[in-house]
Amino acid sequence: MKKALLAAFLLAASLSLYARTERVSGPDGRLTFALDDTGGKPTYTVSLDGVPFLEPSPLGLKTNVGDYTEGLSLSGFTVEPVQDDYSVPNIKTSTVHYRANKAVYSFDKNGKPALDVIVQVSANDIAFRYRVYAPRRDTRVCRVWEEATGYVFPKGTKGFLSKQMPPMAGFARTTPSYETTYDGDQPLGQNGDGFGYVFPALFRTGDKGWVLVSETGVNGRYCGSRLEGRPDGSYRIAYPLEEEANGNGTAAPGINTPGYTPWRTITVGETLKPITETTVAWDVVEPLYEPSIDYEGSRGSWSWILKMDANTTYPVQLQYIDLSAAMGWETILVDALWDTQIGRENMEKIAAYAKEKGVRLFVWYNSNGYWNDAPQGPHGRMDNIIERRKEMAWLRSIGAKGIKVDFFGSDKQQTLQLYEDILADANDFGLQCVFHGCTLPRGWERMYPNFASAEAVLASENLYFSQGRCDTEAQQAAMHPFIRNTVASMDFGGSTLNKVYNPENDPSKRGSVRRTSDVFALATAILFQSPVQHFAITPENLTDAPGWALDFMKQVPTRWDEVRFLDGYPGKYAILARRCGSRWYICGINADKKTLKVKLDLPMLSKGELTVYADDSSLKGSCRTETFKGGAFTVEIPCNGGVVLVQ
Ligand code: CA
Repeated sequence: MKKALLAAFLLAASLSLYARTERVSGPDGRLTFALDDTGGKPTYTVSLDGVPFLEPSPLGLKTNVGDYTEGLSLSGFTVEPVQDDYSVPNIKTSTVHYRANKAVYSFDKNGKPALDVIVQVSANDIAFRYRVYAPRRDTRVCRVWEEATGYVFPKGTKGFLSKQMPPMAGFARTTPSYETTYDGDQPLGQNGDGFGYVFPALFRTGDKGWVLVSETGVNGRYCGSRLEGRPDGSYRIAYPLEEEANGNGTAAPGINTPGYTPWRTITVGETLKPITETTVAWDVVEPLYEPSIDYEGSRGSWSWILKMDANTTYPVQLQYIDLSAAMGWETILVDALWDTQIGRENMEKIAAYAKEKGVRLFVWYNSNGYWNDAPQGPHGRMDNIIERRKEMAWLRSIGAKGIKVDFFGSDKQQTLQLYEDILADANDFGLQCVFHGCTLPRGWERMYPNFASAEAVLASENLYFSQGRCDTEAQQAAMHPFIRNTVASMDFGGSTLNKVYNPENDPSKRGSVRRTSDVFALATAILFQSPVQHFAITPENLTDAPGWALDFMKQVPTRWDEVRFLDGYPGKYAILARRCGSRWYICGINADKKTLKVKLDLPMLSKGELTVYADDSSLKGSCRTETFKGGAFTVEIPCNGGVVLVQ
């Protein structure tokens, strides 16, 4: 007994004796990650210009080959600069010049290599991941039971968070699917509905600034993670729930040893500018295969959003092909139930008709499978490699541009593998992929060149389903540029010009009433970034919507070279500038009851003609040409209204 006490004392003494703190900063020295191994339990802090944004927060993993959360001693520390100049046409910034310092913190346990913490720090972003070692040489795999990685914010920090949905709930037991609201100014110490929060999560630290927490580089080699809120106000990384995916597949990810976990990302800014402009989701990942063709951006229409299941029919799809052709758009999306309501033979006729009109098809599939009850077909085509590749060969033969696969509803490793399998197969057949009822894409635009976009948001369908969602449309829209949409493309499927969410656009008939203006609809076409867009415009809108709005939607780009944050506050208002080639689009929306009047500094514009889309106080929109004299430009946006400036 005495011996054991002495040994414990000596161990504690040696751990404290060798306690070290090592720091790594971004190339400009402002953002700093500091790691400390006091007591054998590593913690990290994050500061910007010496101001703390994360207080000592835990690191480590518990695995079946070792508990790497304690008894660790820092045995090595190296720092080297890294840089990467890369192009991804599908994200907010087509060309990125990434500059960072990379640190490797090596930890031993019982004298053997246990864990490396690999950290990359750029001007405003930190990305870190673990490399896991096994204590025995003949051990080549391990399971990770839990992750100690945590986030301890300074007191008074508020969260802008979206609750993790419960497993096997919601429509046809298809959750979790990231289809809940973002709620602003949430105090620390809560845990959503008991399941935590999804990535990304935004935090405001008093008047000091903002922190965006997310993860990237997640594929079939790991699960997707979430944030668990603790009563002490901290957050921890948590893995999927056992019940997800109908209980199939492990909740604890399996990896090789040595092997890596995904990157945990932390973006820090005094303002929302670094949050809005961050490219960290793509900076630290690599393309996993070469594109088989040159994948393009596209605009398209889809009948389902205003006409629902009953209208996925042959004649209605022809009307939408005509609509897309009239708008100069590249695609239509043939949504659920085409297998039974249209049939393959007629799908081939639809594709041939579309081809004549210069339009191509995105075709909907159910991801199932045996993981939820979603009834819409086609089923059993995307869940296994044999049927999937047959189906994709057929899609290529009819000239389809891509697929939309729906109803995944789990972040388990096996579900992440399914996304990857679908993407990799689709690339072999030159097809782009859009996912709905799905997880947050985590670096996928760069990892998979044919990945186009994903829902993972309370999207336009909810405006159809609920007046309450229409009433708060602007608040949610003013969240996305700073949270969900800043880390990944977002297929919102909106920009509605209907007054009412019913097929006839008839206010005397049942349907939720749109509260937002037509200029708001135009502004969100720019504000919401997705290289493949499906707009909620109907054939009837060609005659019942204002000509200036249709003309705008005819020329709206979907791929961007640059983004700049101009002003905003999550949930209240958002004003951004996006550049496509030499053309700038400045877009703004306002959810605040008070009309927003803001003087914008617009150094990116030249003196001369500026096209202005704006609302009057009754949300009536118009388009006019003004002369931009240089310097500042004042815009006014009423509640639920928008503004767009084009030059
Ligand atoms: Ca959905």
